[in-house]
Amino acid sequence: MRRWNGWGDEATDYPLPESAALYLESKIGSGNPSPDISFKQVLASVPASRLPEHPLISTAPTERVFHARGQSLPDWIAMRSGQIDAFPDGVAFPQDKQQVRDLLIYAGHTGVRLIPYGGGTSVVGHINPLPSAIPALTVDLGCMNQLIKLDEDSQLATFGAGINGPDLEAQLNPRGYTFGHFPQSWELSTLGGWIASRSSGQQSYCYGRIEDNFKGGHVETLLGPLDLPAFPASAAGPDLRHAILGSEGRLGIITQATIRIYPLPEDEHFYGVFFRDWESGSAALLQIARSHLPVSMLRLSDAQETETTLELSGKVKLVSLANTGLGLVGYGPERCLLIYGVTGSRRIVQWTRHQANAILRSHGGFPAIEMIGKIWQKSRFLTPYLRNTLWEKGYAIDTFETAVPWSKLSATTSAAKAAIQQTSEAAGEPVLVFSHLSHIYSDGASFYVTYIFRRQETPDATFAYWLANKTAASQAIVANGGTISHQHGIGTDHACYLATEKGALGMKLLQTIQNAFDPDRLLNPGKLLADADQDSAPAQKEGM
Ligand SMILES: Cc1cc2nc3c(=O)[nH]c(=O)nc-3n(C[C@H](O)[C@H](O)[C@H](O)COP(=O)(O)OP(=O)(O)OC[C@H]3O[C@@H](n4cnc5c(N)ncnc54)[C@H](O)[C@@H]3O)c2cc1C
Repeated sequence: MRRWNGWGDEATDYPLPESAALYLESKIGSGNPSPDISFKQVLASVPASRLPEHPLISTAPTERVFHARGQSLPDWIAMRSGQIDAFPDGVAFPQDKQQVRDLLIYAGHTGVRLIPYGGGTSVVGHINPLPSAIPALTVDLGCMNQLIKLDEDSQLATFGAGINGPDLEAQLNPRGYTFGHFPQSWELSTLGGWIASRSSGQQSYCYGRIEDNFKGGHVETLLGPLDLPAFPASAAGPDLRHAILGSEGRLGIITQATIRIYPLPEDEHFYGVFFRDWESGSAALLQIARSHLPVSMLRLSDAQETETTLELSGKVKLVSLANTGLGLVGYGPERCLLIYGVTGSRRIVQWTRHQANAILRSHGGFPAIEMIGKIWQKSRFLTPYLRNTLWEKGYAIDTFETAVPWSKLSATTSAAKAAIQQTSEAAGEPVLVFSHLSHIYSDGASFYVTYIFRRQETPDATFAYWLANKTAASQAIVANGGTISHQHGIGTDHACYLATEKGALGMKLLQTIQNAFDPDRLLNPGKLLADADQDSAPAQKEGM
């Protein structure tokens, strides 16, 4: 059973070892574990639905609570405190594209707003209903999760858009294929959500981002069905798939997607390598990116993330041994840990590892024992469960990310981290802030910042602390020329920064497309484009 107010399955936990708890305490003080509201209390606070009975719609309070919020820190604060400003009035679980069509027609007739919903793992407010006099209906695509067609000659597969990561791989792996798209949220996020928010998997270096693998599909819009044929390539004008990629549920509901699939790799390994400092590590990554070596993943942690990762692992003896050993050979407190992956045939894996190690060593890289790579691999989808544990111990955790050209990387990472430090200092609150380079390109890289702090005395104060940090970090990113998001998307939380990136004409173009598809703002208004203007939309029509 999925947690209603946290991450993942209720049966899975990520306990914090005692040494790790002590480490956190030494860095940011004791947590502030005020009690959470119970599920029963939240259920009792759900207002009556404003939707009339409809065969495709459930107005059960349980479903409305489960679909009320995503996974951002403000979402957590709301769900754990019960301060939830809006619930969907109902949730529909369409079984096929005809039922999706019926729901769009229903919205057209009644003025109800629809929120397409995949796995609800958004961290930027994508799927939250906004307070409004107009009812909101969440459309959960979870039942549309079948393999529809497998074209082995072309290595293409067509799936229902609501399929999640594990189910998608479970359909492909026995047939000898993988999609290779592994965002950290893989356990819960869905194919349609990946497309609609332009997500990136951890092994994008080898398998590509979602836009590299989304080959076509079917979208139900308010104007009718939109088919996107899967061509290997086309010069027939602008690529319409790019209107759907990153559309965040604003243009239509993706019902099917055809994706490029890959033969299961014969071999795959992840390795850990230590560098003396950040500069030597990032120089090594740049050289690997420029040499186009077929590694599958490169993830370089800064010194603070390296220390925190080792300490939170709770492997006291191993960490102490590593600290002593590495210190003796000159890898002191500034050391940075790289995890890199190699994926493919045995021959390619061996060759790539050899080539990569030569480059990494030439920058002072010190190969760690293979166990570090194995531990990372084992816990790659478990780490989000730590958020539950930290919260229960009185800590909050938030992340943000961007991508910048190599020439701006150093200034932008420093500015973003400094923004968090300074905001926290001004609030008199200690913070643990760290980052890693997460996706590498020949012209730049994305970096991902995590910060942990004590929950404040009240949910409002925790939210205010988060907002001050989020604003400072976002402003630092855009001021230094970074994109406001490399992979999480825009939702509500980034909407006010979009114009800086797209420019006035770019925004006009996006708004024009939006107006053409959905002039009445029936589909997920207020997300991507800050155009919610909730109550000025057309008055409710007949049939409500
Ligand atoms: C712990 C954690 C780790 C994460 N790691 C990563 C990561 O490594 N890489 C990454 O890219 N992101 C990551 N994310 C962010 C999030 O998982 C992604 O944005 C993901 O793509 C969202 O997919 P979803 O199915 O959960 O979509 P949802 O959250 O349900 O929806 C996201 C948006 O897509 C729209 N949408 C969903 N399905 C459809 C559809 N069928 N048709 C039209 N619109 C639709 C929704 O309306 C909404 O606007 C992470 C999030 C968490 C909480």
